[in-house]
Formats: sequence, C-alpha cells, structure tokens
Amino acid sequence: MADAAPPPARHAQIIVIGSGPAGYTAAIYAARAMRKPLLISGLQPGGQLTITTDVENYPGFADVIQGPWLMEQMKAQAKHVGVEQIEDTIVKADLSKRPFHLVGDGGHVYMADALIIATGAQAKWLGLPSEHKFQGFGVSACATCDGFFFRGKEVVVVGGGNTAVEEALYLTNFATKVTLVHRRDCLRAEKVLQHRLLNHPKIEVVWNSEIEEVRGSENPLGVTGVILKNLVTGEREERMIDGLFIAIGHKPQTDLFRGQIEMKESGYILVKAGTTQTNIPGVFAAGDVADETFRQAVTAAGFGCMAALEAEKFLEERAAEPHGTERAA
Ligand code: FAD
Ligand code: NAP
Repeated sequence: MADAAPPPARHAQIIVIGSGPAGYTAAIYAARAMRKPLLISGLQPGGQLTITTDVENYPGFADVIQGPWLMEQMKAQAKHVGVEQIEDTIVKADLSKRPFHLVGDGGHVYMADALIIATGAQAKWLGLPSEHKFQGFGVSACATCDGFFFRGKEVVVVGGGNTAVEEALYLTNFATKVTLVHRRDCLRAEKVLQHRLLNHPKIEVVWNSEIEEVRGSENPLGVTGVILKNLVTGEREERMIDGLFIAIGHKPQTDLFRGQIEMKESGYILVKAGTTQTNIPGVFAAGDVADETFRQAVTAAGFGCMAALEAEKFLEERAAEPHGTERAA
C-alpha cells in the first residue's frame, strides 16, 4: 500500500515562530494589518512567563498578575484579532530563498513570505530536582523580575559572571543580605563590577562552592534555605535564606538557524541597530532571541511590534515584484 500523501504545505504572508510576548505581539500587529499570520507556538506555549508566578512590572495592571494568566490574555487577544495559532515546533528552516521554508516536528511544511523569529532564550539552571520544585516559589532566574518580592529578606545568587554580579548588586536594593556563591575562587565578571561587589556591605561571597540542595516549606511552597558544598574541602553547610537567584547564563533558542543567519558568538541573532532586521531580507528577529541585554516581557513585546511593522513594510515594498521563488541571502 502506498504511503499516505504528506499534508499540503501551508503558505502565509507572515509566519511568527514563538508564542511568548514577542511572538504574540508580532502576530497581533500582523493580523491587524490583514496579513493573516500563522503563529507557531513551540514546546513552551506562552513562553518563559508560563514558568513564573507574580509579574509586577508589565504595565497596565494595578494588581500583581500571574505570568501564565498574562500569556493566556495575549493568546486570547491574538485569537480575537484573527491570528491562527498552530501547535507545532519548527525543526528545520531553509532561509536561503523566498518564500522561506519551515518544517514542523510532524513533517508539516510551512512557507512564509516574511518570517519573524521570536523563539526566545532559556535561562540555564543548575539541574537540581529541588531547584526545579521551587521555581517561581523562591527560586528565580531574573532579579529584575523578582527582586522586589525579597524586600527585607536574605537571598543567594549563584554565578560568577557579569550577570550574577549585577544581579547581586541589584538585589541589595531589597534584600537585607545577599550571598554570592561561585564555584571557583575568582570571578569572570568585569573588574569594576567585582570591585563594587567585594566592597558592598550587604554582600558576602562564598568561593569554591556549589548549591547541593534547595530546602523549603511545602505549604505554602517556598524556599527556606540551601545546602552549600565547598568543592575544595567537601564540607557542607546549611544557609537559611528566602530566595535563590540562578545567574549562570542564558541560551538563545537559535540552533535551528545556525549557519544560515548572522549571530553573535553567544548565539543571539544579530539585528541592525534600532531595527529587528537580520542579515536576510524578510527575516526579522524579536524578543529575547536577539536581546542579550534587557530580556523583559515588555521589551520583547515592543520588539514584536517592531518586527511586525517591519515585515509589513517589507511585504508592501515587494508587492509590485513578480511572485515566485527568489534568492533571499
Ligand atoms: P519567550 O517567552 O522565551 O518565548 C519563546 C517562544 O518560542 C516559546 O513559546 C517557545 O515555545 C517558542 N519556540 C522556541 N523554539 C521554537 C521552535 N523551534 N518552534 C516553534 N516555537 C519555538 N520578564 C518581565 O518583564 N517581568 C517578569 O516578572 C519576568 N519574570 C520572569 C520569570 C522567569 C522565571 C523567567 C524565566 C523570565 C521572566 N521574565 C520576566 C523574562 C520574560 O519572560 C522574557 O523576557 C520574555 O518571555 C521573552 O519573550 P519572548 O517572546 O522573546 O520569548
Ligand atoms: P557568563 O559570563 O557565561 O557567566 C556564567 C557564570 O556562571 C560563570 O561564572 C560560570 O562559572 C557560572 N556557571 C556556569 N554554569 C554553572 C553551573 N552549572 N554551576 C555553577 N556556576 C555555573 O554568563 P553571564 O554572566 O550571563 O554573561 C553572559 C554575557 O553577557 C557575557 O558576555 C557577559 O559579559 C555579558 N553581560 C554583560 C553585562 C555588562 O556588560 N554589564 C551584564 C550582564 C552580562 P565559571 O566562571 O566557573 O565558568
């Protein structure tokens, strides 16, 4: 018996990959420009905010809102303006010619006249089961987002790079004490930051140490301490703390596009300054995937808006050109 015919390729003027704040915002703008966008949601529908609890810095809400709820609202708004959301994950992309060619993990093929990459970035975690258990309940990877919840409390920051040192310094605005735990005996952060850190009265640095376990209460779920292990002596000690910030780097979700699109060494997509334009005409990158610096929901949404407006302009400029496949890069 012959194999079943593969499903027909879906074509759209604009395809958005990713359903975080950048992806939803891009799709909402594209739909309102009558471009009938497809939004492909990926393995984490709603993006990073679905793994947090309180969000207090997204404008428009006087009360504290929940990350998953905010993303449900964005999804509902996208549906309301006519965005078609597809539950699929792109596993292959060919950006060498237009329309751009994408393949989902079930083999479905998608073709886009303009493509918005909004695949985000993922914080790196230590990988401890206890860390996972308390994520959003005292364990965070974002001091800017969650520092405010630790007013008058004690926290630990893990890492030795610029991010860890900046987060430790930032957290002194709220916490009574900040302990930076680093696995080696020297930091890789810039000297000026190190100087500020080492001279700050609220900060203690614990060298050559790792977190072995996060301890916490069950009801309500919350962090109460960590077990630290000294990697030189093997000694263990328990520290009573209220919050744990993991600052050991982020990984942008760009493996799919490696070798096809210009990226920084760190894997973040390069865009022309002040735009979301990549080196490939018609391919735009929005949100954390192209933003090593800010990594906030509101900035991601802003970049999503820019990407849709730029994709719209790109399509308009090409409207008079003959249809068919053309080289992109
Ligand atoms: P993401 O939210 O990362 O979304 C990426 C999307 O791409 C996901 O839907 C994923 O499924 C999809 N995707 C990835 N690869 C593929 C693929 N191959 N095919 C299809 N889809 C794909 N920011 C704030 O402003 N305030 C906060 O309080 C706050 N709290 C946070 C708490 C935590 C624990 C974390 C981790 C982050 C927090 N942030 C906060 C940061 C914020 O979540 C991010 O800046 C924001 O989500 C980035 O949005 P984005 O759309 O660029 O990407
Ligand atoms: P990073 O420079 O890669 O540093 C990561 C830190 O986490 C390192 O100290 C590393 O330890 C530690 N680490 C990694 N995996 C670990 C694990 N499993 N357990 C314990 N510790 C672990 O990452 P980053 O600090 O996020 O910075 C990323 C990039 O952004 C860098 O280029 C940085 O300069 C830049 N940045 C710049 C600024 C600024 O200019 N103000 C601010 C923030 C970030 P080791 O040192 O032992 O490897």
